[in-house]
Amino acid sequence: MKEKLYTIPINDAFAIDCECPICAMRKVLENNAVEFTMGPSYMEDDIRMETDKMGFCAPHMQMLIDQNNKLGLALVLKTHIDKTNKEIDKRMKMPSAGGSLFKKAVSNPLLEYIDGLNHSCYICNRISNTFGRYLHTVVILWKTDEAFRKTYKECKGFCTEHLGDLLKEGEACLSKSQFEEFRKVTTELYLTNMKRMAEDLEWFVNKFDYRYKDEPWKNAKDAIPRAIIKTNGMIELEDEKKKEG
Ligand SMILES: [Zn+2]
Ligand SMILES: [Zn+2]
Repeated sequence: MKEKLYTIPINDAFAIDCECPICAMRKVLENNAVEFTMGPSYMEDDIRMETDKMGFCAPHMQMLIDQNNKLGLALVLKTHIDKTNKEIDKRMKMPSAGGSLFKKAVSNPLLEYIDGLNHSCYICNRISNTFGRYLHTVVILWKTDEAFRKTYKECKGFCTEHLGDLLKEGEACLSKSQFEEFRKVTTELYLTNMKRMAEDLEWFVNKFDYRYKDEPWKNAKDAIPRAIIKTNGMIELEDEKKKEG
């Protein structure tokens, strides 16, 4: 069976004029997941069971708050807290396994549960499955589609996290020689654009010097938010302009 490729969202992301098209495609997934979570779906039992179990990480909780659905958020929080209380109460009554008088417990169900919960997020989880398939599609398009290969080469590079993701995916699904080429193209794309970014930041800093006061800003005016996409993937899509205009 031929695997399903997600060519449309990938081409859309690479059409955006931004510092990391992979961040752009992840951001679309994230916005959709947040809207889905605070949309009518929070009243569906199977979805609520998942949000009750997983909860949300802090950045995604902030995005849920920004959706401004106070009733929805209160309901989601209430049943998540009910579930957490139930699980903690159950584990509090369990003995720690494997311990003895001289040895500390090797398993502690209560702490294991708390650690797991503190690292789980319904929205992160929802994004991650599709994101993996998108990443795979990027590499397969690079391998098979001449036009995409050109688009890829002309993009403004990637953030550091997604450089790593691309290289991992490339190594997993390309032949040795194809991967060598992919690695070279991708890493050079990253470095060239990171150097451009460093120059923009340098010019931004210069502009604080009275000697450069009357010089033009060149491309440096928005150097900080663009640099933060490169280092932390913090992208805001509404600020990005479509290449077509
Ligand atoms: Zn990125
Ligand atoms: Zn999250």
